[in-house]
Amino acid sequence: MADATGAVACPLCGQALNLSGPVSRKDVCPGCGRDLRACHACRLHAPTAHNECREPRAEWQARRDRSNYCDFFELAPAPGADATAADPREAERQQKLNDLFRNF
Ligand SMILES: [Zn+2]
Repeated sequence: MADATGAVACPLCGQALNLSGPVSRKDVCPGCGRDLRACHACRLHAPTAHNECREPRAEWQARRDRSNYCDFFELAPAPGADATAADPREAERQQKLNDLFRNF
């Protein structure tokens, strides 16, 4: 899912992606070469959760690094700066945390 600016980046390596629509099973990251429509690039993937997914209705996937047909797939935010930029409150929280540690 693209945000307002249309900028999408690989959740695995941060490489900017030029997707013209929803992530398809054929989409591979030009940066790291890994499948994009796979659990490891999904916002719902949670290795510690039941089924390794935050969506309880999702089907079990044998391979977390391979494209699948999961109906609940949603591209995860890119690692690092993009996640905080997307949520101003998160950036603020981070700033407060930094201030806190500076005083010690
Ligand atoms: Zn990548």
